[in-house]
Amino acid sequence: MEKKNLDWGNLGFAYMKTDKRFVANYKGGAWDDGALISDDMILMSEDAGVLQYSQSVFEGLKAYETVDGHIVTFRPDLNAQRMYDSALRLEIPPYPVDKFIDAVVKTVEANEAWVPPYGTGATLYIRPYTFGISPVIGVKPADEYQFRIFTTPVGPYFKGGAKPIVVKISDYDRAAPKGTGNIKAGLNYAMSLHAIVTAHEEGYAENIYLDAATRTKVEETGGANILFIDQDDQLIVPQSESILPSITRRSLVYVAEHYLGMKVVERPVYWEEVKAGNFKECGLCGTAAVISPIGRINDHGTDIDFASGMEEMGPGMTKLRETLTGIQMGSIEAPEGWIVRVK
Ligand SMILES: *Cc1c(COP(=O)(O)O)cnc(C)c1O
Repeated sequence: MEKKNLDWGNLGFAYMKTDKRFVANYKGGAWDDGALISDDMILMSEDAGVLQYSQSVFEGLKAYETVDGHIVTFRPDLNAQRMYDSALRLEIPPYPVDKFIDAVVKTVEANEAWVPPYGTGATLYIRPYTFGISPVIGVKPADEYQFRIFTTPVGPYFKGGAKPIVVKISDYDRAAPKGTGNIKAGLNYAMSLHAIVTAHEEGYAENIYLDAATRTKVEETGGANILFIDQDDQLIVPQSESILPSITRRSLVYVAEHYLGMKVVERPVYWEEVKAGNFKECGLCGTAAVISPIGRINDHGTDIDFASGMEEMGPGMTKLRETLTGIQMGSIEAPEGWIVRVK
């Protein structure tokens, strides 16, 4: 298979049209078999459910080449299950888990030439999504839906090392206690855009959102879960029903316990504890970066600095990140079922 002639080492994170995408349609109460197609355009009613009432859910995962030349994806079963759960919450007919995994594999296979070579740090980003496509004017779920997967090559998240970032405590809320914070829906992102644009203008890389009900507990950022390491080298994972269940976070918890012998505590984390200096390292986790280190959090003008500093990722987060990326890239043995081979 001849790879595309791209400058793999210098890819950014932007959409690039690849050869094939997978499309399945839900009509008359059932999903059809779906197919790989070339057309990247979608023709739909001006009154489609997704356009009027934002009925859409999505996923994000990566395919990449391992050290021994295989093309693999990482735990796509968890993306499949999460999209299933997200869909139920928005009254979208869920796309079956086994078919989802199958479609991911087929789509990556069909775009094999776009999978960045091992060692470039780049990956093939995979975006599955489902949305209401039939007209809806009264407020109710659409009757027809489309499930699609496209892929696009993206560059390494960190070019030249993972530098700690500075983030701020946001005055906006991300998710209501019984809202949609725990599902992956476009609507959660639409309402975070103003907050993130504002934070960027102020010089911060991200927003940390507190729990909307009491504004005392740390939740997550707009698109990544938060992890802490305390003074006893324990991994502390904020727990809340309005945090999105990150697959990276769940994998890191397993890695901490089973590979690194760390103690993991999943519990509500109060902002006061962070302010008091109870944690020596802090990081964001998600598919894109695995872990990005946080060096400083600004709370309305007051800086909270982590002992790991602003120069490099702390030792605990580094160990976690290196172990998980080693598992993903095939240099460390993976737990059963984590790596799904496309080729
Ligand atoms: C996607 C997402 C994450 C990260 O989840 P991963 O499965 O690790 O990629 C975290 N928070 C939010 C709000 C997200 O949408």
